[in-house]
Amino acid sequence: MADFLKKGTVSDMQIITGIREMKGFSDSARKEGKTIAFVPTMGYLHDGHMSLLKEGRKYDCLVMSIFVNPIQFGSDEDYNTYPRDMEMDLKIAADSGVDIVFNPKAGEIFPEGFKTHVAVSELSSRLCGISRPLHFQGVATVVAKLFNIVKPDVAIFGQKDFQQFIIIKQMVKDLNIDIEIVGIPVVREKDGLAMSSRNKYLTPEERIAGTCIYRGIMKGMDVFDIGERDTDIILREVRNVIENEPSAKVDYVKICDITTLEGIKVIKNSALLAAAVWIGRTRLIDNCVLGRGLM
Ligand code: AMP
Repeated sequence: MADFLKKGTVSDMQIITGIREMKGFSDSARKEGKTIAFVPTMGYLHDGHMSLLKEGRKYDCLVMSIFVNPIQFGSDEDYNTYPRDMEMDLKIAADSGVDIVFNPKAGEIFPEGFKTHVAVSELSSRLCGISRPLHFQGVATVVAKLFNIVKPDVAIFGQKDFQQFIIIKQMVKDLNIDIEIVGIPVVREKDGLAMSSRNKYLTPEERIAGTCIYRGIMKGMDVFDIGERDTDIILREVRNVIENEPSAKVDYVKICDITTLEGIKVIKNSALLAAAVWIGRTRLIDNCVLGRGLM
């Protein structure tokens, strides 16, 4: 535990690692009539996470989980190297007014013999689901478990992971889970790069190159704003900007329906413009909603 927390100098924030203890805390808070807001994270916190915590602070009790979820990483992905810095995270959490940090061990969340998974069909196989086939099943499963453990009234997600946000909304609807899902706009660096824990992987040169994703998305917005509605034409313009950057390799750039995530040919009112791009060995995602301003 961080020294400043041991000394109790910063806040009364508690760190809970056990499922039973977490459930006990939530049961007592609910009995006292308190509303619980929940922000699930994988840690290595930045200003994007902090904007979710700021929203969560509006409720009586704010719980944030830090859990690098093994089952949402493919076998060739970065589970082992995913950035972790508990001391920094606890300081940010305390400064953001978090009441409880829930930080369970992977073995307690997924013990030997664990067999049940939550699969949100169709939505999970589009966009990022094509190159990460089991990713959203891993996300939906862990979020469902965290919901059952933390028992929040409200859960707050970032729209930087727009597909994840839509999938979680679908899951709570389909499974009659009484939790309100709130979405928070993308928080960006000054030069437009969407904040992400994975930005840490970028070399200084790649960090500059990474802005091509935002520049591409901005180009798409500009073309949309001057009246273009044919998605092939908009996408060609977006790709041109991104592919002009030598270290960028597009995984996908798509325009799709905001709720079904199905690709569309002609935009009627609004649509999601979403991109996943490799910058060197780092895969970054970003998006904006055309017709509703850049998020
Ligand atoms: P992660 O720790 O990456 O799993 O993210 C935890 C939560 O923070 C998710 O709901 C993300 O969508 C959200 N988040 C991450 N980066 C950003 C960002 N740049 N802007 C807004 N929300 C974000």
